[in-house]
Amino acid sequence: MMFRENFEKKVRDTIKKYGLCSKKDKIIVACSGGKDSTTVLYLLKKFGYDAEALIIDLLIGKWSEKNLKNLKGFCGEHNIKLNVVNMREEIGYSVCYIRSGIQAKTKFSNCMICGVIKRWILNKKARELKADKLATGHNLDDESENILMNTFKGNPELGINLGPKTGIVMDKKFVQRIKPLYFCSNKEIMKYSKSMKFPVLYEPCPCSVSTFRRNIRERISEIEKISPRIKLNIVNNFLRVLPVLRNQYKSNTKLRYCDYCGEPCRKEVCKKCELIKILLR
Ligand code: AMP
Ligand code: ZN
Repeated sequence: MMFRENFEKKVRDTIKKYGLCSKKDKIIVACSGGKDSTTVLYLLKKFGYDAEALIIDLLIGKWSEKNLKNLKGFCGEHNIKLNVVNMREEIGYSVCYIRSGIQAKTKFSNCMICGVIKRWILNKKARELKADKLATGHNLDDESENILMNTFKGNPELGINLGPKTGIVMDKKFVQRIKPLYFCSNKEIMKYSKSMKFPVLYEPCPCSVSTFRRNIRERISEIEKISPRIKLNIVNNFLRVLPVLRNQYKSNTKLRYCDYCGEPCRKEVCKKCELIKILLR
């Protein structure tokens, strides 16, 4: 079989095997403008799902401008509805402003701060758009790194939020997240995206400087040279223990609503509002 057909079959099989979505679902695809989320958007549409794109304009200079322009062009060409959220309108500040303000007081990393804010906006917007599912471009490399990062931090509980779909909390304000590229490696997605000539930037976000993640990524690549299936093995091994983890930490996963913003969270105040509190302190 041709590479492209093989790749598409893998995504289709993942969706089917893990019951990620159905033709009745309205799916919002969280799009950064990069190769992964653009591939998800393209394939969900191609497979006949009801999918729309949602991009948060993070206002990170030329990088964000280019991503937004690329995605607008792509959605126009493929007749896909594009929803754009402006970071400043949604939160009141740009991501760079929030980061520099918070980092003057804490050691939180760029990606941690940006990730918390992105997740908050994506869930809220997806819900407002009446989505049944929120699809992201997370891939095999991301997931195997996340699993090892949690392991090395000695915090297995963090793993309950991983997997091809979030599953442990069911709440009317929480939109289930799905990862159709769960078993596709970065390299494969790059090859697919290039062969499809998707209009995307291949450079990473200029602010992503997480040394811990980079370290883990480099270690995995080293081992991959002698053990080519390492990422698949990490993920498959994790999927076997995931039900046990979810069961074990079930009692800690009760959702409540943030005292400040009303969004679903685990403590009295959600992570995004905690960050804003630090910023304004
Ligand atoms: P990252 O946290 O940058 O690794 O991105 C993980 C996933 O979040 C991507 O695959 C996208 O699905 C989504 N995402 C990242 N950035 C954005 C953005 N600016 N707007 C909407 N979704 C995004
Ligand atoms: Zn909040």
